[in-house]
Amino acid sequence: MSAAAAARQILTRLTEVMASRLHAQGKLDQVVEIIGECLSSEVCSIYLLREGMLELFATRGLNQSAVHVTRMAIGEGLTGAIAQKVETLNLAEAKAHPDFQYRPETGEDKFHSFAGVPIVYRERAVGVLSVQHIDPRRYEEVEIEALQTTAMVLSELIANAELVDEEEARGLTADQTGPQTLSGLTLVKGLGAGHAVYHQPRVEITQVMADDTEAERQRVYRAFDRMREQIDTLASQAEFGVGGEHEEVLETYKMFAYDEGWSRRINEAIDSGLTAEAAIERVQQHTRMRMREIDDPLLADRMHDLEDLANRLLRIVAGQIGTAASQGLRRDTILIARNLGPAELLEYDRRRLKGVILEEGSLTAHVVIVARAMNVPVIGRINNGKGGGVRTTIREGDEILLDATAGNAIVRPLPQVADAFQTRFAKSREKQAAYASLRDVEPFTRCGTRIQVMMNAGLRDDMSALAMTGADGVGLFRTEFQFLVSATLPQRERQTRLYRDVLEAAGDKPVIFRTVDIGGDKAVPYLASEIAAQDENPAMGWRALRLALEREGLMKVQARSLMEASAGRSLYVMFPMVSEPWEFDAAKAVFDEQLVYLRAQKKLLPERIHFGAMLEVPALAEVLDMLLPKLSFLSIGTNDLTQFLFAADRANPKLAERYDWLSPSILRFLRRVMQGCVGSGVDVGVCGEMGGRRLEALALMGIGYRRLSITPAAVGPIKELVRKVDLAELSAAMTGWLAEPQRDLRQQLSDWADARDIEYD
Ligand code: PEP
Ligand code: MG
Repeated sequence: MSAAAAARQILTRLTEVMASRLHAQGKLDQVVEIIGECLSSEVCSIYLLREGMLELFATRGLNQSAVHVTRMAIGEGLTGAIAQKVETLNLAEAKAHPDFQYRPETGEDKFHSFAGVPIVYRERAVGVLSVQHIDPRRYEEVEIEALQTTAMVLSELIANAELVDEEEARGLTADQTGPQTLSGLTLVKGLGAGHAVYHQPRVEITQVMADDTEAERQRVYRAFDRMREQIDTLASQAEFGVGGEHEEVLETYKMFAYDEGWSRRINEAIDSGLTAEAAIERVQQHTRMRMREIDDPLLADRMHDLEDLANRLLRIVAGQIGTAASQGLRRDTILIARNLGPAELLEYDRRRLKGVILEEGSLTAHVVIVARAMNVPVIGRINNGKGGGVRTTIREGDEILLDATAGNAIVRPLPQVADAFQTRFAKSREKQAAYASLRDVEPFTRCGTRIQVMMNAGLRDDMSALAMTGADGVGLFRTEFQFLVSATLPQRERQTRLYRDVLEAAGDKPVIFRTVDIGGDKAVPYLASEIAAQDENPAMGWRALRLALEREGLMKVQARSLMEASAGRSLYVMFPMVSEPWEFDAAKAVFDEQLVYLRAQKKLLPERIHFGAMLEVPALAEVLDMLLPKLSFLSIGTNDLTQFLFAADRANPKLAERYDWLSPSILRFLRRVMQGCVGSGVDVGVCGEMGGRRLEALALMGIGYRRLSITPAAVGPIKELVRKVDLAELSAAMTGWLAEPQRDLRQQLSDWADARDIEYD
């Protein structure tokens, strides 16, 4: 039997039960029988939320004496976990799952496999539908889909039979009235204040089973047409102009909108007897489940784009055309969404949008890239410390103070807290204005040394910061960003176009292009099978230059693109993760070969090519003397370097406090590298995050560094700092501190700065 036919059979039988004159309990008893029979499942059970606990309401296969006796808290056992996370579980061996809890009164010890789906009402799980088998086997997709469909039908039954308390379903608790602080992950730094607006006024599915399947199909077809039109229009009007990374983001989006597989699955769900709304929701639930099973964050981000579109489709079909964007923002707004697609964010009025809170979200998500370009602070992975979702804590219209830099949001703040926030806000704006005034001021130290303050970039939109901050150029252009935001490997023309635009935006200022640093944690979907996501230790895995040298085609294309884009001007190229000098030679040889080719083609060539290397693998420091004669510049990547020096994963928040950039081992190491370069004529700088922090920048200047490439927001503060420093005095002090160091130099450096009225926080 096909999936649709199986689901249709279940639905038909459920329809009969729903239409029957049975009371609610009688209907539930019938439902478990039908599901159990249709899925040939020994056990089928329904748990519903009552007084905050999940209570066994009906079962086939477990002891009947357990009905209305077995109760689990949200988060307790497999059932509780499904309700808490609102997600599906499909387990061949239930006991092997860490959340498994044995309830003797149910007599469930002989059953091995377990599958459960949440019964969702108004976005909250109000119950769980589960099946169990004696055989240890995973349930098939068709069976899971049948369960999900049934759960939707059940939520309708539950609502109609008032089996769930409305208040309980809404979860209106004390958490929703008093002040609350939610913490999350900083995605785009900044401060913002405004009133809560939910991105999606929820589409309530009022009818699950279709009266007329053909009519439902037509509704979905029309909705698809409409959605595709909307996406095409958005793509053509993107505020950021054509040719930007946003265009690529929207391309990915378009790819999903026209995806045949997706529309086919919705169609199949309609075949099984669901309404258009229920079919879209069912497929979406399934996508969500699959998304959770995928461990690759980049692929998961693409799935978020698909979810964004599914929501759009659902709203169109339900005639609820508007997101909050289409209704217009009436006042300063902090937007809240489970997840947000890039196109959806672009629809908001930038003047009113003061911040975004995402329940999910990750640093590499497209929407974050877009938000950064819009200069809107964002936090993600939000929680209230009690495992509750945002909707249980924030109500539409609540006042919110968002401190995305610190990664938190204060909801319904007390007046004194709001006042203090506003004061901070005003100060930060004043400071920004003061830094902006330094834009055209060259950063000379008090003793007259010119420090190069460059900025790091990776997207075309970042380039506007060059003029805004007055940075001396781009000291690190992370070319892999283009690869990360693309659905497919960027072809040569696209790469050339980007590099040309970047150089044009930079004018006379230099741009150091770093060749792709993909691989490891920066895995791209189209290379996923090659870049072993299985790399046990991705940071030390097959990444950056190691990958590029083996996939020479990739490097060749990039070499040619960079050279063509810099025709008639200087090209600065830098290779990441060089561990030994021969790797540099091999990478340079690829460029040399392309140069010969372009010359033979009579193409206009770059005036000069400056080759540089990044020092971020400690081993290179020991053989630097062999590499220096070949280099025109060296850039120290302190992000990677410190993780390797300390054997401490840079992305692991638990280790953030375990080592310090101001520790004597890092500073002595960096000093030794600098001393090794003296007299070589090689221009040496630092391009890791370290240089953008003021105490760390002081330390770097104190051990001889004169070029820093930092995040654009730090350019103003570092310029201001440079102007207050006397290098002779600072380096004498550093020499003393490093001779007899403490655990770290934080205290000495801050005392030194305090004594000279230098700000460093
Ligand atoms: C570094 O490692 O310090 C660096 C600048 O490169 P990335 O952060 O891109 O690895
Ligand atoms: Mg690095």
